[in-house]
Amino acid sequence: MPKKMLKFVDIDKENPSKREVVSRKEDFNEIYKEFINAKAKEQSSRCSQCGVPFCQVHCPLGNNIPDWLKLTAEGRLLEAYELSQSTNNMPEVCGRICPQDRLCEGNCVIEQSGHGTVTIGSIEKYITENAWEKGWIKPIKIKNEKKQSIGIVGAGPAGLAAAEELRKLGYKVSIYDRYDRPGGLLIYGIPNFKLEKYVVERRTKLLRESGIKFIQNFEVGRDQTLDQLRKKHDAILIATGVYKARQIEIPGNDLKNIFPAMEFLTASNKKGLGDKVSLFDDGTLNAEGKDVVVIGGGDTAMDCVRTAVRQNAKSVKCLYRRDKANMPGSAREVANAEEEGVEFVWLSSPKEFLGENKIEKIIVDKIKLGKPDESGRRKPDIQENSEFDIKTDMVIKSLGFDPENLPKLFNSVELQITKWGTLKTNFDTMETNLSGVFAAGDIIRGASLVVWAIKDGRDAATSIKKFLEKKEISEKKVA
Ligand SMILES: Cc1cc2nc3c(=O)[nH]c(=O)nc-3n(C[C@H](O)[C@H](O)[C@H](O)COP(=O)(O)OP(=O)(O)OC[C@H]3O[C@@H](n4cnc5c(N)ncnc54)[C@H](O)[C@@H]3O)c2cc1C
Ligand code: SF4
Repeated sequence: MPKKMLKFVDIDKENPSKREVVSRKEDFNEIYKEFINAKAKEQSSRCSQCGVPFCQVHCPLGNNIPDWLKLTAEGRLLEAYELSQSTNNMPEVCGRICPQDRLCEGNCVIEQSGHGTVTIGSIEKYITENAWEKGWIKPIKIKNEKKQSIGIVGAGPAGLAAAEELRKLGYKVSIYDRYDRPGGLLIYGIPNFKLEKYVVERRTKLLRESGIKFIQNFEVGRDQTLDQLRKKHDAILIATGVYKARQIEIPGNDLKNIFPAMEFLTASNKKGLGDKVSLFDDGTLNAEGKDVVVIGGGDTAMDCVRTAVRQNAKSVKCLYRRDKANMPGSAREVANAEEEGVEFVWLSSPKEFLGENKIEKIIVDKIKLGKPDESGRRKPDIQENSEFDIKTDMVIKSLGFDPENLPKLFNSVELQITKWGTLKTNFDTMETNLSGVFAAGDIIRGASLVVWAIKDGRDAATSIKKFLEKKEISEKKVA
């Protein structure tokens, strides 16, 4: 057994420290400080180098975690970086925002034995940040560019990961996106305090310098149909994410100052990027001085409450129909929100929005939890005669997302979807029912995680390569 490892008995688990609550509420910067080299080495050395690494098994990308931890502990940081990036296109993003408690770290064997997990996410971030600093991360250089081209619809993590993998293979790649900046939810959904924008912009700049074309402000369906794109490219990847906000069907839903989560978060992110946002500037989408209620218990809801705190809301409440133990969001983000002064109103469900013209209060039903439902979480049942009300002047609805109607939007009625509205793909190849049209990320899974989008993007790239090789052979035969 390597001498530098297995130190979990002597060395306690340590994450990079968090900024003080008072200071982090004053800006939108990330809240975790960086590991210094000595700390990353020390924390890596706690790994027990298991024969069957459950962390790796539970990482959607199958990252070779024990090996890059060992290399870090030995100070071999270039090799650690090379190994880490060989399975992940954005390790510094995943290191920051993966819900590690549910994935790699939650399955670390020394965590199970009560010693506290190896802080895998923070070390992954450290390895790649160090690589950026040292100038080890360089644009892709193509010796012989292939003639075939791929059009990717959507510049979120799925589209970006696929683009990088396909470019490495020498293909021409164009990414079309309806937003003005690439990055998808990494730019306009996830707030800076979890993931600062420079981290994403640095990646997209690198991809541009690698010869990938970005065509922004281009909406497939509006600017060109899917069919038109298919004629331009040898293969297409659809990676458009899911954006249709789930509604809450209760009286008063149409009152003013009730907003979907993405409208609120996008406005805040755009302001952070220095854009003019008239609905923010006139106060409509700004939580400052308001009693804010966010409805929902997922990661998006946590991002909304913490954004409202930073916008200087008078008070911020999170209304959730289950209890803390049954929340879908990451435990780490709930803890951060609590520290920042968010009040959680558990076991509560909105019944009616009341107000003259604009929202003034919410009538709320108390909930008791029943037996587990199909999701495994306990079913919320309304308690009779339990109503109470909450005063508010801004409500943000964060109840999840569904796919948009892509066949209609893309003017491509033959494109098949599932009963959930996600794109139907061949399980092995990720190809849709249209030949040469593949799909990846949230648009095939439903709202999911960045790490899964990256995994899908990489897998789709492998399938697209196989498809294009076959296509080239058959075209040569015909010629
Ligand atoms: C607020 C919020 C917080 C989150 N926090 C986390 C987190 O902490 N950790 C985590 O792992 N995951 C988190 N997620 C989930 C994660 O962001 C997504 O799972 C991931 O971004 C999906 O990647 P994607 O590439 O499939 O889609 P997206 O990131 O949604 O990108 C899709 C892109 O397609 C473009 N597009 C859509 N339609 C068209 C069209 N017709 N024409 C052209 N372009 C189009 C969009 O503009 C967008 O840029 C969060 C999600 C939200 C909403
Ligand atoms: S990608 Fe996510 S799950 Fe995999 S090792 Fe990194 S932090 Fe853990």
